[in-house]
Amino acid sequence: MLNCNYLGRFAPSPTGALHAGSLATALGSWLHARAHDGKWLLRIEDIDLPRCIPGVDKIITQQLSACGLSWDGEIEYQSKRSHFYQTALNQLIESYKAYACRCTRKQIEDTWLAKGIKKQRHQELIYPGSCRDRKDVVPPCAWRLRVEDETLKESVGDFVLKRADGVFTYQLAVVVDDALQGITHVVRGADLLDNTPRQIYLQKCLAYPTLQYLHLPLVLDDNQEKLSKQTLAFAIQTNSSENVLKALRGAGLHLGLTNSALFIQNDLSASQWLERATQNYKEMIFV
Ligand code: GLU
Repeated sequence: MLNCNYLGRFAPSPTGALHAGSLATALGSWLHARAHDGKWLLRIEDIDLPRCIPGVDKIITQQLSACGLSWDGEIEYQSKRSHFYQTALNQLIESYKAYACRCTRKQIEDTWLAKGIKKQRHQELIYPGSCRDRKDVVPPCAWRLRVEDETLKESVGDFVLKRADGVFTYQLAVVVDDALQGITHVVRGADLLDNTPRQIYLQKCLAYPTLQYLHLPLVLDDNQEKLSKQTLAFAIQTNSSENVLKALRGAGLHLGLTNSALFIQNDLSASQWLERATQNYKEMIFV
């Protein structure tokens, strides 16, 4: 673990190359770390392997390097860290904070239907707690967190930590990694904002420190939809210094950088641009 007052990170899932939105997030978290004289780690979140595309991690690291977004230390891969997630889960099971559940999605929907509640499209399915007090659940089963916080109970309910197919969930992996890596600040896209209360709650259950969170506005497409790999957003091009500068400028503009030196001078290298951007960013946040 790096010993540092400010330890940030960028944690892309290797499901697609960086596009304008993910580059803005990478730049925002890099600038925030560098403006605080902090360190910035890179973690590849490949926990859900079937969703990952082989080789995309290399494309992402090439894109970051071409843009001068250098990271500290070794790159961590979640796929190699399952033993840490299992240890944390065991800790929760032993302290009666996690329980086994064999409910299928259909059963959960049917439980709500029986109470007259129909799931809306895109609506999160709150777990009705059917297995909460059962002692007879045998594997294969999922593991859920026993949520006691009233607000969280109403918004998400007892959420899954490990799926019945053996895959640890994003919520558990991210909380364990952030804590074990000693992360102090998380700067990420606003699409992840509604995960933050869950993660802070889980940190408390595991007696981990609570981190500082900053959520950046999303880059939207012409239909006001979030740019995403699912909507096949274009990968940023880093094959020439012009394209790198263009990508950095787009991301900088999105983050509200205003220093004209960043936008008019065309002969800047990525590192010169970043040096100026860091200065501009400092002026914005340390007023
Ligand atoms: N891996 C997540 C993603 O690519 C980000 C996780 C995080 O920053 O907490 O959306």
